[in-house]
Amino acid sequence: MTNYRTPICSTLGHVDHGKTTILDALSDNRLAGMESGDITQSVRVLSLSNSDLADICQNIPEFSYDLPGTIFVDTPGHRAFGKSRLRGSSMSDISILVIDIKDGFQPQTVEALEHLIETETPFIVAVNKIDALPEWETTTSGVVAQTFRKQSHRAKSRIRDSVYNIAGELSEYDISSDFYWNIDDFTKSIGIVPISGKSQEGLADLIFVLSNLSERYLKEQMRLNVTGDPRGRIIRTSNMEGIGDVIDILLVDGVLEKDQEVYYRTRDGVKSTRVNRIMKTGQNNLSEGTFKEIGNSTAASLLRISGSNIDNAIAGSPVGNKKIVEDWSTQNVQTDNHGIVAKTSSKDKSVALYRELNDKEIPIERVEPGSVTKADVIRAHDSDYREDRIIIAYSVDVNDQAHSEAKKLGVEIVESNVIYELIEELQNKREQMEETINASQPAKFRIIDDGIIKSGNPAILGIEILKGTLETGVSVSRFELKNETTIGNIRRIEKDSREVEKASKGEKVAISLSKRSGSKSVEPQDSLYVSLSRKEVEELENDTDLTTSEEEALSEYIESKVDIDRFWY
Ligand code: GDP
Repeated sequence: MTNYRTPICSTLGHVDHGKTTILDALSDNRLAGMESGDITQSVRVLSLSNSDLADICQNIPEFSYDLPGTIFVDTPGHRAFGKSRLRGSSMSDISILVIDIKDGFQPQTVEALEHLIETETPFIVAVNKIDALPEWETTTSGVVAQTFRKQSHRAKSRIRDSVYNIAGELSEYDISSDFYWNIDDFTKSIGIVPISGKSQEGLADLIFVLSNLSERYLKEQMRLNVTGDPRGRIIRTSNMEGIGDVIDILLVDGVLEKDQEVYYRTRDGVKSTRVNRIMKTGQNNLSEGTFKEIGNSTAASLLRISGSNIDNAIAGSPVGNKKIVEDWSTQNVQTDNHGIVAKTSSKDKSVALYRELNDKEIPIERVEPGSVTKADVIRAHDSDYREDRIIIAYSVDVNDQAHSEAKKLGVEIVESNVIYELIEELQNKREQMEETINASQPAKFRIIDDGIIKSGNPAILGIEILKGTLETGVSVSRFELKNETTIGNIRRIEKDSREVEKASKGEKVAISLSKRSGSKSVEPQDSLYVSLSRKEVEELENDTDLTTSEEEALSEYIESKVDIDRFWY
């Protein structure tokens, strides 16, 4: 019997078009370390076996697949620079380009598509969120090729319009595409699959088309004669009882052997370690479960390795021989959540602005057409970094509500019809903001019993300040299992139903917390801290006006950070 290697599939697309939701749906919550908001993890991975895929496609009798399975890789989009995000996809053999049915092509869709063309990566298109169309009737059968026909005339024509719009955009790149059920040969035309990550309709269709394309396109390449140096990506670092520090990696290429010297990136440059143990979990993810020690391993696989001094490896960093790792510039490892928000008057302007910002290495949360609204201001305010709390309005209106919210939350809005003016003013503003940073005050607080007044977004919580001083505008995190999770930002503090700017030790107040998208829900009794950057910590340490209780909150925060990363302080 021929052995084949497992193909790696990346999901690409504009921010918020649903990449994570689709992977989540595919994983049935078995996704490797998929804890949302986990800032130490910059690559998310899901490994599905051949039988998992067959299971998803059980209602499609034509499904047949000989390869061992598929490993899905998702590099969160808005969290990183465009370029480093795309680097995730160059590890892959095949791709899913995700497009929101209502939004259509957006700047990062164009960027992803151009990257796929450049790297000659075969791909399929998932047109997501069909459930959000008012005309669509959600059914449980799940196979869209069958349910589509039974939809109303209006639903069908609404979906056809969107799909043919997307096909029109693709044809500008000389790519032919159609609804997948109209295509005979997926190597000649791109299959478009209408799906909903939310209702899970179309997931079977998606896997069917993807498997079909992998079989036809990749089977020969996947013949297992993997040799040579290992090359992979670090998914995360952790600690295993009885074993010590371990790193989870996705081995993309080559062979990894015990006692081999492998290189990886740390905040202090490239480091290496001798591989002590190679482990593999029997399950389809790395979240936990039983890891068994194995000997050598060939790509592609999800592995856990132990070795000395690996606890400071950066998630997202490449791992392999010295050259591979050194070629990866420090710039490309971005583990922070930040970026600015920009709104423009047209798609073309969005694409132009996106390129310009990327060129100047200005981190981007999102660039999209539309006027500036209160929601954009809240989104900009949610950034971890003060200097990112800026909105660019390129030839678009800013409504009054947005202006007043921006004033309240300290978000800057830069407006102009000229791209170069915008960039110049943006850069000036960022510099000014960096210089005038007023450090957040340190604080520790807890949610009181029955304190979850509203769990939506924003959440309204009854809290008690345990240490320090809590102010509006700060971001909040929680520490658990050697991880810091940033939960969101405080938009409002109320005491006895009146808005106050701050609250100190011992006070019980209500807060409105705008939650970061995808962040876990808060639990009663959770201990929460004001998140502080290294720069803020430095400033606070030189601040002679801190109260004893603020000093205590600050040292506890530093201790928790150092527990995760001993080089942090
Ligand atoms: P990503 O940035 O591409 O990973 O997007 P996410 O998966 O985080 O989704 C962004 C938002 O769109 C979230 O609020 C999701 O709940 C929502 N979303 C994703 N997929 C669907 C879908 O199929 N239907 C609907 N109605 N909402 C969706």
